[in-house]
Amino acid sequence: MGAIMQTSASPLMPIPGAIDPVPVRRAVTPREDGRVDLMGLSRMQIKSVFEEAGLDAKAAKLRSKQIFHWLYHRGETDFDAMTDLAKPMRGWMAERFVVGRPQVVEAQVSSDGTRKWLLRSDDGQDYEMVFIPDADRGTLCVSSQVGCTLNCSFCHTGTMRLVRNLTPGEIVGQVMLARDALGEWPKGSMASANDDEESDEASHYTSDGRMLTNIVMMGMGEPLYNFDHVRDALKVVMDGDGLALSKRRITLSTSGVIPMMARAGEEIGVNLAVSLHGVTKDVRDELVPLNRKFGIEELLAACAAYPGANNARRITFEYVMIKDKNDSDADARELVRLLRHYKLPAKVNLIPFNPWPGTDYECSTPERIRRFSDIVFEGGISAPVRTPRGRDIMAACGQLKSASEKKSKAEMRRLAEEKQAALG
Ligand code: SF4
Repeated sequence: MGAIMQTSASPLMPIPGAIDPVPVRRAVTPREDGRVDLMGLSRMQIKSVFEEAGLDAKAAKLRSKQIFHWLYHRGETDFDAMTDLAKPMRGWMAERFVVGRPQVVEAQVSSDGTRKWLLRSDDGQDYEMVFIPDADRGTLCVSSQVGCTLNCSFCHTGTMRLVRNLTPGEIVGQVMLARDALGEWPKGSMASANDDEESDEASHYTSDGRMLTNIVMMGMGEPLYNFDHVRDALKVVMDGDGLALSKRRITLSTSGVIPMMARAGEEIGVNLAVSLHGVTKDVRDELVPLNRKFGIEELLAACAAYPGANNARRITFEYVMIKDKNDSDADARELVRLLRHYKLPAKVNLIPFNPWPGTDYECSTPERIRRFSDIVFEGGISAPVRTPRGRDIMAACGQLKSASEKKSKAEMRRLAEEKQAALG
């Protein structure tokens, strides 16, 4: 275990923010059986754990290439099914390693087809992911943290405390699990991978025609407060020999962690979405308290400097529509002024507020949302209104957490009792 932990990029990254979360120094969640979970590791990391387990450099290189392909391209979790490994090698692997998946605590399907999964890590932490199917695409909304430090006042997740950052394995594991659930792994025999064979037939397999076509880092948590793990996970997701999702189909959403935005553009290079939600200091301070640290103008300047943003790859500004809070004509005009002032290649997503138990906010009326959208459109900026999805199962934007916390406590109690009973 220790060996893998050292392969994690930077330890204890200083995290800027209104309330600094407690960083957790680990890239892999320890397992009770002592075996190492390969999920989330890059090819290089797999190679080094194989070397540390006793393979020589040449064998480790070959095996890591084969295993990487089985893991991320074929979705295989059973070493015994990895037919291009000799039988003794399969046994050797199974003794030392596992290919994990998050445990599914609950899976729900909304009347509109949206699916939500409550997941659990090996150390008993709960988090959620949501799959939103559309006619021509399917988007997986992935969590980056258990809970969140940012306390955005319109967001249910913000009422949870931060428990911990998710590991790269737990982030990639969400994508793997969704693929499992959707039955989207390639079938048939796999060409044997070896050092001389740079591209086998299966490597040309793309995401076209699949249900899961897009990923948004918009689930629980602020991804830029878990930068290293999110970057490492997305690199695995984008690797052409594995899941092979194009960076154009991945969007990272931030509430405005300015110091990390340029690095996100340079080191990850995916599309950027920004939770704006307010155009005056007072309103944004209330809705997104991080605004007290990093103000609107500073944030928009950082967006203008985001590497790779242009008219073909516009930055999405998320704007939740809350009655009598941020939905006036004047707000819409100010939004246009600001986006134009910073010459931003922008698109605005208007999100009707999704209620959750205990919130004082209400959703703007449909007429108000339409009027707001028209003003922004007239200002030359696209401002579609997002259809709420999965509201009936609390899977819509800003609703995540809900039952998970209660369920987790009840479940944890039950597990503790079971453990006690087992101990006699
Ligand atoms: S909107 Fe995002 S950053 Fe804000 S509290 Fe919710 S999960 Fe955290």
